[in-house]
Amino acid sequence: MIALKSPREIEIMAEGGRILGATVAHLREQAKAGVSTWDLDAMAETFIRSHEGATPAFKGLYGFPGSVCASINQEIVHGIPSRKRVLRDGDVLSLDIGVGYKGYFTDSATTVAIGEVDATSKQLLAVTERALEAGIAAAVVGNHIGDIGAAVQAVAEGAGFSVVRDLVGHGIGTEFHEEPQVPNYGKPKRLMKLTPGLTIAIEPMVSVGTAKTRTMPDRWTVVTADGSRAAHFEHTVAITDAGPRVLTAYAVN
Ligand code: MG
Ligand code: MG
Repeated sequence: MIALKSPREIEIMAEGGRILGATVAHLREQAKAGVSTWDLDAMAETFIRSHEGATPAFKGLYGFPGSVCASINQEIVHGIPSRKRVLRDGDVLSLDIGVGYKGYFTDSATTVAIGEVDATSKQLLAVTERALEAGIAAAVVGNHIGDIGAAVQAVAEGAGFSVVRDLVGHGIGTEFHEEPQVPNYGKPKRLMKLTPGLTIAIEPMVSVGTAKTRTMPDRWTVVTADGSRAAHFEHTVAITDAGPRVLTAYAVN
């Protein structure tokens, strides 16, 4: 079932999304060599809870232990925060964070270059962010879910990278994961038609090498099968008559 949101519900999600956007911006600043993903997790939880009524949505979601997913280099998503995972110069770090606020959820991800990274990694981050922007631009009334995937795929594959297919975007609202699924590949005019009130997480995961994935023995961390690096950018977006509204925007420094 698709749960369309009223303008009032979208405003509540935008409030939560502002808190999440600020959290993402804060963590982007704090992510540097010498900092562990455990430290970042603690910072995220403290920062989110400093806003009255806001909770870190990932904590306990399906049993996940952290407030953020922190995935380094060949890790695509769902990395578990750990004191043993200390960031090093040249790493790329994907942070995926969710916020619960007044009964609604928002979801966002970003990938940060730690210190000086190689040229391919720089390009990977730029292309994945551009793929997200293209996906958001396609999220207009009258288009279909397939138009979003097609737009994401064109940017990622146009740059010679691969789109991860085993994981997809999703509807979001009173539940963290709602229908419909939002794949990062596809064909225009396919799948569900986009209508005002639909709120979705668009989240391209792009790999330098293969699109194939593997799950680590911790049963959470998803990595590229060939060990190549991956990036992940995500926003929660409301489909409105005035165009796509990004609910989790933040200022990039
Ligand atoms: Mg996410
Ligand atoms: Mg998501």
